[in-house]
Amino acid sequence: MIKASVLQRFVEDWLEVRGLEPQRLEPDVWSFRLPKELRERFGRGELVFSFNQRALSRHPRSELATVGNPVFDRLLAVAREEGRVGIAFARPPSSAARPPALSKAISLGGQPPAKVEPTYQAVYHFVFTIGYPSIEAPDETEVVSVDGATLETWAQTPDLADLWGTLEPEPRKGRSLLPPLPIPPRVIETALAGFEKRMRRRIKKVLATSETRLQQEIESIQGYYEQLIEEARNQSRRWATKVEDREDRIRWLQLEWKRRTEEANEFWRPRVSARLVALGLQMMPRAAYRYAGPGKGQGRSAPRGALLVWDEQSRRFLPPYCEACGRVGLTEPQARPRGGMVCLECAGKEREIEHQSLEPGEKGGSPREKPRGRRARGHLTLVPGDR
Ligand SMILES: [Zn+2]
Repeated sequence: MIKASVLQRFVEDWLEVRGLEPQRLEPDVWSFRLPKELRERFGRGELVFSFNQRALSRHPRSELATVGNPVFDRLLAVAREEGRVGIAFARPPSSAARPPALSKAISLGGQPPAKVEPTYQAVYHFVFTIGYPSIEAPDETEVVSVDGATLETWAQTPDLADLWGTLEPEPRKGRSLLPPLPIPPRVIETALAGFEKRMRRRIKKVLATSETRLQQEIESIQGYYEQLIEEARNQSRRWATKVEDREDRIRWLQLEWKRRTEEANEFWRPRVSARLVALGLQMMPRAAYRYAGPGKGQGRSAPRGALLVWDEQSRRFLPPYCEACGRVGLTEPQARPRGGMVCLECAGKEREIEHQSLEPGEKGGSPREKPRGRRARGHLTLVPGDR
């Protein structure tokens, strides 16, 4: 059962993103008008929610705000469908920030990039909320920002609301877009690893706090029952109670003591909950240097080719990461036959696998395998270009 306060906050948020506010008929009975575009979906123009059974009995025509109520579930479904993904575009610097000429970019196996184009590439801001149900601490928000080019995690993310105010809603004309979605798997992994790291300190704090509180609670329970048992002993002497009654009372107190201790253990069990609640895509103005793929295919069969990115704000080429093992800051990136960049080691491994699949006696030698052999030999190395 979800707490009413949590449900109320959800409804508040749901309304707030639509610029609406509930009318509180009672603290636990809220009413609000639905936005026009959602009226048909709900089959009504106004919703009244009760946040507990008692309120519902006072307002029998209201809906009980709880998971499982069909009207409330529809509210949840709308929120889920919209997701919370925002995309906005950083302003390109003045025209003075022209990307370096092709010949200034590093070469790939002696070849400079084939072309350069102004583009946008995403920095991913993952927004998490962290809840501490086991200690009395307010929820917190943590943002982990990962650069889509380098997998660098920003040491600090500026306030997202402030940041978003500085961005533009539409891309500039004449700029391409390196598609930010689906989120590259390496970006997700990096974000989660970064988040976990930042959680460690918090988890320690929760463990320590829960432990202290539990200790206090258990001591107080102990004091209470020890006193009652002591009293039971003395009382029975004074009032000449039967020995069996006295023993029964003491046994009962001991059971109660045990039960309350178990309850306290459960209640103070350390808990931390984390949820990914939003994703902000900050599209950075960059220049994409595209290399011709290592292979002679044309059209559809042409390899994807490699991509190197120059950042217009910091005015530098961004070191790529290995798409196979996730290593960052590659200084000698290798172009993959099927596109993208890998590190030296992974390029070697992949070349070996390609080679093995061509061993005679296996499927090798079939006409299908030939192009793969050609491509496998096409591994190229990025070497510093002439400057
Ligand atoms: Zn690698």
